[in-house]
Amino acid sequence: MALHDIPNPFPYPTPAHTPPNESNIPLTVLVSSRAVIYDQDNNLVVSPATISISPQSGTILSILPTVLPASSFPPNTTYIDHTPHLLLPGLVDAHVHLNEPGRTEWEGFNTGTRAAASGGVTTVIDMPLNAIPPTTTVSGLQEKIKAAEGQCWVDVGFYGGVIPGNAHELLPLVEAGVRGFKGFLIESGVDEFPAVSSSDIALAMTTLANSPTTLMFHAEMIPPITDSVGDDVQKSLPPLAPTGPLTSYSTFLSSRPPAFETYAIEEVLSLAHLAPNLPLHIVHLSAIQAIPLLREARNRGVKITAETCFHYLALASEDVADGDTRHKCCPPIRNSINRIGLWNELSHPDSVIQTIVSDHSPCTPELKLLPEHLSHLCGGRITPDEIIGVNGEVLTKEEAEEKEKGDFFASWGGISSVGLGLPILWTEATARSSSTKAPLAITDVVRLCAVNTAKQVGLSHRKGALRPGLDADICVFDDGKEWRVGREAMLFRNKVSPYQGKIMRGQVKETWVRGQKVFEREGGNGEFVGKGGMPVGRLILERRRV
Ligand SMILES: [Zn+2]
Ligand SMILES: [Zn+2]
Repeated sequence: MALHDIPNPFPYPTPAHTPPNESNIPLTVLVSSRAVIYDQDNNLVVSPATISISPQSGTILSILPTVLPASSFPPNTTYIDHTPHLLLPGLVDAHVHLNEPGRTEWEGFNTGTRAAASGGVTTVIDMPLNAIPPTTTVSGLQEKIKAAEGQCWVDVGFYGGVIPGNAHELLPLVEAGVRGFKGFLIESGVDEFPAVSSSDIALAMTTLANSPTTLMFHAEMIPPITDSVGDDVQKSLPPLAPTGPLTSYSTFLSSRPPAFETYAIEEVLSLAHLAPNLPLHIVHLSAIQAIPLLREARNRGVKITAETCFHYLALASEDVADGDTRHKCCPPIRNSINRIGLWNELSHPDSVIQTIVSDHSPCTPELKLLPEHLSHLCGGRITPDEIIGVNGEVLTKEEAEEKEKGDFFASWGGISSVGLGLPILWTEATARSSSTKAPLAITDVVRLCAVNTAKQVGLSHRKGALRPGLDADICVFDDGKEWRVGREAMLFRNKVSPYQGKIMRGQVKETWVRGQKVFEREGGNGEFVGKGGMPVGRLILERRRV
């Protein structure tokens, strides 16, 4: 079933036309003059709302499209009026690399999910690579689960990985609750997660053809004839045909042209007939040249969708200074014309881009090879005596210092932004609005970052919307607040992000996970106010049904 065909399990409004005030259970009630809920025709709208929550079940009991006064509820009710701030469903970030165990110095469950919570993200889905072991086997998943337990501030689900030779693990991983699978069509940058060939893809497609899952691709592939041969991705080999200095962003950009993305997507589409019922998905789409291919395939009935990332919508290659490797990711951030093309596609009524995610993929500052002035900005650690390379190789301090700082080819590729997505998107959307129309309304942000991301990972029955029966995952958003991204706002483990120092419009005030407030800006306990200051996030391991 295509994502947009999934029937809505909880139509709005609910039968509850009177407040549920006859129960003995003390309620939590959040109200605001502005919330993103559903109208009677099942359209997302901004409306006044009274949201009643059961603290016992952590679910939404009822939503009324009006602000009821506290006096409508029993005296023991926890009643909070957030007017004029927006009540939104907690975001579902369907693409996050948490890297634990194995590369926990890059990111971990605790720090990554704290960052998520601080930005109104209430569910993250962890990618199958960059932890050791990767999530390419059931035992790898079990290691992940063991590492995650008790550490998560928001709910966490897991993807599995497709690599050569693990086809027999795919169905057991579906049974174990993974939300989908990712495979690479080009070197991933880490040894334990090799790229797949077309025969591996064909085998994965036939294996998963009738399973309730999604098969996702890192869609970059080196076309057979090209003067740009790539850079062995995130390892230190320079391109065989460098077109300029390795510290210049344009050299890096031209080493991974749009043809890498279109060629990879053509490869996936050429095999799609093997699994006509299996949803296919392109992660982190950057090149707009891929959009017509995807649209044409969808028109033919191929079940394929794409996601793009906050950075492709907010950043542009022209603005990347030489050596500023905080901007390196794969596929690359392209020029501002490409960026406009992505925004235009998002406003297309049948956009091939159905979701926006962070692709939060951090590493240690050393592996980013930041030039001096940037490494100071990022908190400039003293170079340790030994540096652990991407694949565990040990470099002495001297060897590490010989590496050219600001080399876009040798630097690890990945951008840190989990928890910053909502302000990033809102800042860009409002900056791009003309006097008549914003390119995305707040309802579109909710659709792209919560409703559709939840659908993509088979969690619409629990997550991604303010509807009765769903988990009470709520983000309180002050959409007018302007603020600057300082180190204190970057709660992920390594404070290295291209957004540092940028002015944002819109700030998350509170985050609620299953009816419990976990984050409160300027609240006690360092703003993390969950049960006695303890993480309340749960692991999502239920078998996917749709
Ligand atoms: Zn990728
Ligand atoms: Zn990724």
